[in-house]
Amino acid sequence: MPRNRWEPRQRHRCEVSLEERFVRVRRARGDTGAAWPATAFGSTRGIVYLVGAGPGDPELLTVRAARVMRNVDTVVYDYLVSEAVLALVDRRAERIYAGKRQGCHALSQEEINRLLVTLAGRGKRVLRLKGGDPFIFGRGGEECEFLFAHGVPFEVVPGVTSASGASCYAGIPLTHRDCARAVVFATGHLKDGSADLDWDALARPQQTVVIYMGITRLAEICRELVTHGASPDLPAAAIERATTAQQRVVAATLATLPERAATAGVRPPALIVVGEVVKLRARLDWLAAQPPAVLAAA
Ligand code: SAH
Repeated sequence: MPRNRWEPRQRHRCEVSLEERFVRVRRARGDTGAAWPATAFGSTRGIVYLVGAGPGDPELLTVRAARVMRNVDTVVYDYLVSEAVLALVDRRAERIYAGKRQGCHALSQEEINRLLVTLAGRGKRVLRLKGGDPFIFGRGGEECEFLFAHGVPFEVVPGVTSASGASCYAGIPLTHRDCARAVVFATGHLKDGSADLDWDALARPQQTVVIYMGITRLAEICRELVTHGASPDLPAAAIERATTAQQRVVAATLATLPERAATAGVRPPALIVVGEVVKLRARLDWLAAQPPAVLAAA
């Protein structure tokens, strides 16, 4: 008796059309809802694959991502996608850089949305490649909403989010039974340019806080956490270009991290990790024991 009804077919999954996969998934869920656009599999064969490229190291791509990347007509990619990952995309695919470095957008979000719809409307298989995971601070949800509204079929492929990649490659577990029973992902960059976060919640003990897009506000973030009850001695780290050959980690405390990171010249893309777990790095930094060539240049 197979463990589940999909098992006998999974080995040949790549041969199954996307439409067939959706039909099967929906049937398995007992989902007969009409939520999927009626035109999705009708007039055009175009499709958008929203794929998580992971934090940099191409070895961290999912098998599904690597398979999709080899069979597309066009790739629309963000600045966080590493060269090493881009090198794995079908050589014949047209490349379109969508940018999105903070404050320096090659294309606006609206332009990106429209571009995806236009390309798919021409029957293209479009790879929308985003750093990390497409549904974690990547505006992937907004892009899918737009595609849905325009009847464009899409598939979403998860990626290793940078918090996860940074945690593993810096030797800092995000949870630990002794000191972190929860982990919070927050953004230090909000729509209106402020960092108006729920500081009381972030300053709670027994958790790990990972802040994306916050490195340029590091001093403000550390100060707010202490003002809202966190100890100035709480371990904290800044991790720059995690999982690439340029990875740098500055581990300190809430009181000392801003100055230490400034002295080291830490720049985006970087994450801030706050919590007792940062101390474990002293014993768990396995990467330091590896030959330097382990990571590819980003
Ligand atoms: N979807 C992405 C996050 C996009 S927001 C993900 O899941 O990782 C962009 C922020 O992610 C950057 O400002 C930085 O804080 C973080 N980031 C992305 N890649 C990173 C990397 N290799 N090292 C450190 N931080 C990274």
